[in-house]
Amino acid sequence: MTPPGKLIVVSGPSGSGKSTLLDRLFAAPPGNLRRSVSATTRSPRQGEEDGRDYHFLSLEEFERRRATGEFLEDVEVYPGRWYGTLKSEVEPSLRAGESVILEIDVRGADRARQAYPDSVSIFVQTRTLEELEARLCNRQTESAADIARRLETARQEITYADQYNYRVINDDPDQAMADLRNIIDQILGNPQ
Ligand code: 5GP
Repeated sequence: MTPPGKLIVVSGPSGSGKSTLLDRLFAAPPGNLRRSVSATTRSPRQGEEDGRDYHFLSLEEFERRRATGEFLEDVEVYPGRWYGTLKSEVEPSLRAGESVILEIDVRGADRARQAYPDSVSIFVQTRTLEELEARLCNRQTESAADIARRLETARQEITYADQYNYRVINDDPDQAMADLRNIIDQILGNPQ
């Protein structure tokens, strides 16, 4: 029988660079690994595609799927904006021996750990909150109010970092990439 895949949970404040790191990781995937596509009720940003970046759902559709137990975890990450991992993104892959990466917030990570005690978690952060603020401003995808909200959320999220098995400090993108790849290789048991 094929051994089940590993569930890998990646969290970090919005703007910590975790999505960019994961984009780079998946440009040359280290073995049998897929990236789960989350569902969200937020609107697509410019360039984002339904089914690739997120499953963009109406609030009604999100709630319907919630009620029918389709989510492994779901959280109202920002007021009025829900995000969740569909079981269908995870369970068939793990059963088939494929490992799966979830990129989710700290509360979702808690729930994923409870559902999968063997999961391994990685926290990505900048060295300082000032650095995080600068990144959020530079990417010009959020309004000033959104940036303030995301910084406030980040302050709370950082207090969860100790609950993660690994931590990646993203101040030098190449170093952070090398660190992340090493961690993933260890988790997947790839030769170092
Ligand atoms: P963004 O709107 O910038 O794409 O994501 C905002 C936050 O939602 C990020 O911290 C991201 O990790 C989190 N997030 C994305 N997908 C999920 C998910 O499926 N579940 C949970 N709990 N959080 C998610």
